[in-house]
Amino acid sequence: MQYDVVVVGAGPVGATAARYAALNGASVLLIEEHASVGSPVGCTGLLSTRAISECDVKPTNDFVLNSVRGAHIYSPNGNCLPIDGGKTKAYVISRKIFDRKLVTMAVDAGVDVSIRTRAVGLNKNEKQQELSVLQNGVLKTIYANVIIGADGVRSNIAQMAGLGQVRMVLSGIQIEAPYLSNDPDFVELFMGSQAPGFFAWTVPVNEKVSRIGLAVPAGNESYALQYLNGLLNSCQGVSARYGGGTLDLVYGGIPLGPLEKTAACGVLITGDAAGQVKPTSGGGIYVGAACAKIAGEVAALAAIEENASEDRLNEYEKRWRAKLGRELSIGMKIHEFMGGLSDNELDDLLGSMNTPAILNLITEYGDMDHPSILIKKLLSPSNSWQMMNMFRAFAKAIL
Ligand SMILES: Cc1cc2nc3c(=O)[nH]c(=O)nc-3n(C[C@H](O)[C@H](O)[C@H](O)COP(=O)(O)OP(=O)(O)OC[C@H]3O[C@@H](n4cnc5c(N)ncnc54)[C@H](O)[C@@H]3O)c2cc1C
Repeated sequence: MQYDVVVVGAGPVGATAARYAALNGASVLLIEEHASVGSPVGCTGLLSTRAISECDVKPTNDFVLNSVRGAHIYSPNGNCLPIDGGKTKAYVISRKIFDRKLVTMAVDAGVDVSIRTRAVGLNKNEKQQELSVLQNGVLKTIYANVIIGADGVRSNIAQMAGLGQVRMVLSGIQIEAPYLSNDPDFVELFMGSQAPGFFAWTVPVNEKVSRIGLAVPAGNESYALQYLNGLLNSCQGVSARYGGGTLDLVYGGIPLGPLEKTAACGVLITGDAAGQVKPTSGGGIYVGAACAKIAGEVAALAAIEENASEDRLNEYEKRWRAKLGRELSIGMKIHEFMGGLSDNELDDLLGSMNTPAILNLITEYGDMDHPSILIKKLLSPSNSWQMMNMFRAFAKAIL
């Protein structure tokens, strides 16, 4: 088997990279280790309107389960900061159907797909890459000019290409369960020691069912499960509305902070594999899809030119960092700052934001995908002294 571009991993990012490579004239193979695209699911499926359109799809009823327009953010002391975007800001989706839709779009663009095909080895040079795969248990070699590693948070391809691994991975855990939502137009976020270092969430699928989860730094599945049990049984806001039982259980790693290098001779890394995830929310679809388009285009053109040198492929690195690098690095600083606050400090910070003027500012400038826009507005001297005081250390760090 010989292709211009082989993409490893048929998640949303791999499917998008493969499609863009094909649209730019390359012969493309997309491989997936599992026997089914879109399964198992490791995601809440909360996608901003921008994330959906970045994937070049319209929000249709076949994969959209609910739409939300804001968030109720709970301080550790139980007070609520209500953020109402006033219109649909995000959709709750079926990731399984969404992922399949993206792979179908790749096939329509001319991509070949091979499921139950796991990349297990890589031999690379400037002209041709040899990818060893186990296809239905049989060892085979696939030849390509460029390999795109879109193989998720524990990327083998990045490691085999000598690009290392993302430096920090949060442990995420979530159940879908009976839960009486106060208002299915709003997600709920719980800050503080219920999910130290990140946050917990409930995302309504409808009035009676929500996705309830959290992420915590490092640890393992049982560590994250301990916190989830705490949330379900001891957090008053949640336990009173949790109907018991579990319809679905999801575990997964959330990478924080991009790889230092995402291009090597013959190889590009994109999506979770490259740590292209918003550190403020753990959302990876918007950033991943935006980077995947660049990866697909650069890989196709380099393959057609028969120049897969690191120099040539560095175009990808430069373009995605110019588009999203600063947002990710500010997001990382926000994540570190928020994660370092005690429960009392979070109570003070969120309490100080609960004024009509600041809520209006959040409604006007709040953007799930670009939190830096709001942060700059919040740091303006006209805002409350208490909040400025809280943010002073943060302001020094990022401005
Ligand atoms: C609990 C949780 C909740 C989340 N919620 C959200 C959310 O609400 N919104 C959001 O935007 N993001 C969310 N995310 C993040 C989101 O799921 C990821 O950012 C997104 O799936 C990344 O897409 P990807 O294509 O890069 O990787 P993946 O979706 O992980 O796809 C990688 C694919 O590669 C395949 N693969 C791996 N190794 C190989 C190999 N060697 N050979 C062949 N195939 C291979 C895997 O089977 C997989 O199909 C969440 C993550 C977690 C853990």
